[in-house]
Amino acid sequence: MTTLLPVRAVPAPANGAPRARRLPSTGAITDAFSRPMRDLRISVTDRCNFRCVYCMPKTVFGRDYAFLEHDELLSFDEITRLAGVAVAHGVHKLRLTGGEPLLRRGIEGLIERLAALRTPDGEPVEIAMTTNGSALAVKAEALRAAGLARVTVSLDSLDDAVFQSMNDVRFPVDRVLAGLRAAHDAGLGPIKVNMVVKRGLNDHEVLPMARHFKDSPFTLRFIEYMDVGTSNGWRLDEVVPSAEIVELIGAEMPLEPIGATAPGETAARWRYVDGGGEIGVISSVTNAFCGSCNRARISTEGKLFTCLFASEGHDLRALLRGGVDDDGLAAAMASIWGARDDRYSEVRATLTPELRAARPKPEMSYLGG
Ligand code: SAM
Ligand code: SF4
Ligand code: SF4
Repeated sequence: MTTLLPVRAVPAPANGAPRARRLPSTGAITDAFSRPMRDLRISVTDRCNFRCVYCMPKTVFGRDYAFLEHDELLSFDEITRLAGVAVAHGVHKLRLTGGEPLLRRGIEGLIERLAALRTPDGEPVEIAMTTNGSALAVKAEALRAAGLARVTVSLDSLDDAVFQSMNDVRFPVDRVLAGLRAAHDAGLGPIKVNMVVKRGLNDHEVLPMARHFKDSPFTLRFIEYMDVGTSNGWRLDEVVPSAEIVELIGAEMPLEPIGATAPGETAARWRYVDGGGEIGVISSVTNAFCGSCNRARISTEGKLFTCLFASEGHDLRALLRGGVDDDGLAAAMASIWGARDDRYSEVRATLTPELRAARPKPEMSYLGG
């Protein structure tokens, strides 16, 4: 069941005059562990043209799968309102994700509206996107023109056979590489390339990927395979620890650690000693970073999740469609974030496989990465 939060109502004036529009309450908000809300990830669709085996396996997301209907999704107006309230509360970065965000029709229009938002200090907000890159070759220019600052592109292998078996829709790797080039040419950088590593599936591609992206404008990041959702049949022995990846790459191309560039950064950064750029490793399983987690997520149909592994979200769409004003929305958001005490990745190791499996968790394709 979704928790509905107390909302401060703005009483209508007795004389029938239009309701005065109060500004949303502003100011950074912090959670139960004093973590601020800095980063908001917005899932704009639960649909995807890929069926990555670790995210949307065909056995679950087959022909009969019931995706959300259009009117169940947040509209661009609703997304913009929520984002505006979050920015007033201290969010500096908005990331569009999904499903595959480039499948949402008219996404450039949403980007334009989000790019017009300003922080309470009058600063622009960074608009980023995580995409599988399949439509980037066609869309990169328009996205940049709309105000998108940067993209992160997911790419799990350079070997066409491995890549096609992982996306499971026979999508050729060349088209993603063309998308990467187009994004770079359009100025959507610095661009990160995300590789989820699953043991026995694509771990043999770690070195070829590292060699390919060394000395390039792209920063490769290795993501530990996570137990998101309940569809992917996750097993701990399929996770390749980041330490193993750093050791493997470092043995051939020496690496040294470098510091984080932003508070709450998820990736630990390593640079090539010879100046050939850097890589990142995201160790959500073997070295949890909940202590600095400043990310909120809005699901495709408007639920605010305070953790990727939260069992339930808070229904902001019900508030929006119930006519709440910005002040009420801001109060609801502050109350949800204020109560946040999530730290799933830190407690994961203490759960038995049965407890982990029994815990309801949202799918990555619904909530967004
Ligand atoms: N479709 C877009 C894409 O693939 O970039 C955006 C959404 S996707 C859910 C966001 C990110 O989550 C991708 O980089 C994907 O590789 C990652 N991801 C999905 N399932 C995962 C899992 N089980 N463990 C780790 N990362 C995962
Ligand atoms: Fe689609 Fe992204 Fe999930 Fe792959 S990881 S199935 S591209 S949403
Ligand atoms: Fe943040 Fe939850 Fe991930 Fe911890 S498990 S880093 S709290 S999203």
